Amino acid sequence: MKTYYSNLIDNNRKWVSEKLNQDSDFFNKLAHGQKPPVLWIGCADSRVPANEITGTQPGEMFVHRNIANMVIHTDMNMLSVLDYAVNVLDVKHVIVCGHYGCGGVLAAMDTKEYGLIDNWIRHIKDVYRLHRHELDSIEDMKERANRFVEINVIEQVADLSKTSIIKNAWKNGKDTQIHGWVYDIKNGLIQELDEQIKF
Ligand SMILES: [Zn+2]
Repeated sequence: MKTYYSNLIDNNRKWVSEKLNQDSDFFNKLAHGQKPPVLWIGCADSRVPANEITGTQPGEMFVHRNIANMVIHTDMNMLSVLDYAVNVLDVKHVIVCGHYGCGGVLAAMDTKEYGLIDNWIRHIKDVYRLHRHELDSIEDMKERANRFVEINVIEQVADLSKTSIIKNAWKNGKDTQIHGWVYDIKNGLIQELDEQIKF
C-alpha cells in the first residue's frame, strides 16, 4: 500500500524523468555549480515555496527561511547565508518575502505563551512596539494583522540594509539590490513594498 511518505520518493522519480525529458543535460548543468541571481529570505510556512511562486528553477534562488522571515543581527545562520550569497555567489537581488496570515506575526499580536518560540517572536513584538501608533489605530484586526505583516517586511529589509555584509557590499561598489515583498496566500499574488522602504 502506498503511503504518503513513499509517494514522495515516487514523485521524485517522476520529476527527474520530466526534467530529463525537457532537457537531458538538466542535472549535468546543475552539477557544475550554482550562480543564482537571487537570495530569498522567506518564512518557513509550507504555503510559501520560493521557487514555485516565482516560476524559478533549481539553481536560480539561494534560500534562507525562518519563522516570519526575520533578519536578526545575531543570527549566525542567516548571516552566513547572506555573506555567502553576497560575497561568494554574488547575487544581484536579496528579497525578503513575508506573507499575509503569517502564524509568527499573528502570534506576536497576542499575549499567549507558545514555549521556546516566544524568544523568536520577541523580535517580531519589537517591530510592533516600534509601529504601535499606526497599528493600534487600525481597528479591524485582520487589516491590522495584514499591515503588521507588511511593516515587518519593511523593518526586516531595513535591518538587512544595516548588516555589515550589505553595508560593505555597497561600500565596495557592489550593486546588490534589496527588496521587500508580501505574498498573499489567498490569491497567490506577490506585492512589492519597495517604494515604502527607506534605508
Ligand atoms: Zn509565516
